[in-house]
Amino acid sequence: MKLYEKYPIHLSNSLSGEKEKFESITPGFVGMYVCGPTVYNYVHLGNARTFLTFDTISRYFRFLEYKVRYVRNITDVGHLEGDVDEGEDKIGKKARLEQLEPMEIVKRYTEDFHSVMRQFNILPPSIEPSATGHIVEQINITKKLIDLGLAYEVNGSVYFDVKKYNQSHHYGILSGRNIEDLMESGRDLDSQDEKREKIDFALWKKASPQHIMRWPSPWGEGFPGWHIECTVMSTKYLGETFDLHGGGMDLKFPHHECEIAQATGANGKTPVKYWIHSNMLTVNGQKMSKSLGNSFLPSELFSGSHALLQKGYSPMTVRFFMLQSHYSSTLDFSNDALNAAEKGFKKISNSLSFIKKMTQPISSLKSQLSSNGLDLTNNMERMIKSCYETMSDDFNTAKLIATLFEMSSTINRIKDGVLFTDQIDTATFNDFKSTYIGMMEEVLGLKEETGGNNDLLDGTINVLINLRKKVRTDKNFALSDKIRDDLKAIGIQLKDGKDGEMSYEIES
Ligand code: AMP
Ligand code: ZN
Repeated sequence: MKLYEKYPIHLSNSLSGEKEKFESITPGFVGMYVCGPTVYNYVHLGNARTFLTFDTISRYFRFLEYKVRYVRNITDVGHLEGDVDEGEDKIGKKARLEQLEPMEIVKRYTEDFHSVMRQFNILPPSIEPSATGHIVEQINITKKLIDLGLAYEVNGSVYFDVKKYNQSHHYGILSGRNIEDLMESGRDLDSQDEKREKIDFALWKKASPQHIMRWPSPWGEGFPGWHIECTVMSTKYLGETFDLHGGGMDLKFPHHECEIAQATGANGKTPVKYWIHSNMLTVNGQKMSKSLGNSFLPSELFSGSHALLQKGYSPMTVRFFMLQSHYSSTLDFSNDALNAAEKGFKKISNSLSFIKKMTQPISSLKSQLSSNGLDLTNNMERMIKSCYETMSDDFNTAKLIATLFEMSSTINRIKDGVLFTDQIDTATFNDFKSTYIGMMEEVLGLKEETGGNNDLLDGTINVLINLRKKVRTDKNFALSDKIRDDLKAIGIQLKDGKDGEMSYEIES
């Protein structure tokens, strides 16, 4: 039995608005697509939250023994200022301002994005396609939509005919809107003259003479609309219907709504079975965004160089901070919350270092345990189960972390010699150990962090521990106490183990 059968996932599907049992289209395989960054600027911490959420989700699918194909794109053309069909291309504008080629801008910010992802231990997707690499496919689907009567050309631009589509489908199915309200409330824009209705959106735009990024097409030189790239890249690599599509809440409308309309219109099939929308990182209750001027860069957070920050925090502390709240809740940034996260992460990270080295001297069987040992074993089994159940319940990282804290307390009691591993059923002990390590490292993507090179620190303290043993044998207790006290003064506490072995703990 695979782990995904033992602990089936239930997730909140934004399409139905219900929590549903996840059943992949092809048993054992998961195809997921997440809208990637528009690479015209440095990614801010808010963007990082979204990618971290979907990294954790893809990690959990893998942990449950699914084979995952994770596609996350790079938007390097077509995303216009203000997220509408008017205005300058975000990348084109930056290229003009900096007097660079658009592809120089794309390369610079893609590299920055990758480096931030690495710092947060966000794994690379299986495929990372770019919009400019799929111009031919975008032209082809646009032609197809024209042939099907769902799009029309005006003056070298092509628009999706929302009203026509809505005659046989529901435009607004994802965001819970209806076309009548949308037609009332839509914005009036310059291209309004060209569009039949203001809710229609661009599939292809004619390039003005000064527009830098342009490609030949059956309708003259132009560039693709923003929404069509994701329809093309998701269905190309995952099929006309795939399991899961994710992105930030702010992309639900119009971006994802348009993706559904384009794919359903072109292929006659609902493209996505489950949609997940992650919530925003906020600052004083306001969405973190470049345009609001309240965003900061991951590097500013690590170094503590931003005016809003009291000090710097390590990437793993920030990752932990973000995972402490459920992806569907907003997460408000604050120094206090980060300080608390720093302490919390140290605690469960210290337990991680300890448990990795923890061995069971004598193997024991459940049937032969004392009642204390049986209680401990049962308790461990409950915690193991809880790890899986909380994550399978809509990827509840917040509750998983609460269980990890409980496990950490048990680990500390073993470390302090209050509980003994030889009292535990061996299979349970091994499962407890591998679940703690797996949930921390593989699912939550948290790496041990002791402020430097772990092995080096371990090695150095072991030299001191051995030196202290020697001076104690020589009855030089003054020097032995001095080694212990000096270490304590810098936050390292030496501890006596039950079999005379010494260990150390870094105090938080
Ligand atoms: P963009 O580069 O603007 O296309 O955004 C990349 C991703 O970051 C999208 O999925 C957005 O939904 C997401 N995003 C933008 N701002 C925030 C925020 N403040 N909190 C969380 N996610 C965000
Ligand atoms: Zn997208």
